[in-house]
Amino acid sequence: MLNLVLFGPPGAGKGTQSAKLIEKYQLVHLSTGDIFRANIKGGTDLGVLAKSYIDAGKLVPDEVTIGMLAQEVNQSPNAKGFIFDGFPRTSAQAEALDVLLAEKGTGIAMMLALEVEEEELKKRLLIRGKDSGRADDQDPAIIQNRINVYNAETMPVKLFYEVQGKYYGINGIGEIESIFEALCSHIDKA
Ligand code: AMP
Repeated sequence: MLNLVLFGPPGAGKGTQSAKLIEKYQLVHLSTGDIFRANIKGGTDLGVLAKSYIDAGKLVPDEVTIGMLAQEVNQSPNAKGFIFDGFPRTSAQAEALDVLLAEKGTGIAMMLALEVEEEELKKRLLIRGKDSGRADDQDPAIIQNRINVYNAETMPVKLFYEVQGKYYGINGIGEIESIFEALCSHIDKA
């Protein structure tokens, strides 16, 4: 199996690059943000719970997110591999993911991190908010909160993979195609 974590702050381009990567490598894409939004749309209990956190730009609690992710992984027993997009976002999630994959006799091959500076992120998110209608992308205060949460709670996840020699940083500014090529060149060496 080829299991990748696509990492980076909100607005770094994870969704855009995931779409291209799953096509090329035939992997199952698991975006926790997308799954939460689908649940909100469907009016499920999980959606109702997640909405209050997402609207405030806070993380959905670990036990909820980890449980949901495990369920999604278990639903694709024949996957060639997964792209985890927007997960793990805390050290507890990273540890839980290792346990989950170890139970299946596999693990994370690498973390590919899209690196984009804060001012550029804010610009991109506001544009995305206009295009997509995502409420959490429209309010500068919520955007700032998400970036702060990323710096405080999610950045330690980088270290988790770095000490395992699995962290690869990629410049997330530039043409979509050249960023994609940079990602592929790391994956092809795996
Ligand atoms: P995203 O689409 O990845 O930007 O996620 C949108 C929102 O969903 C985040 O701001 C969080 O509120 C929530 N979310 C997504 N993934 C996670 C996660 N792994 N852990 C906790 N909350 C998450």
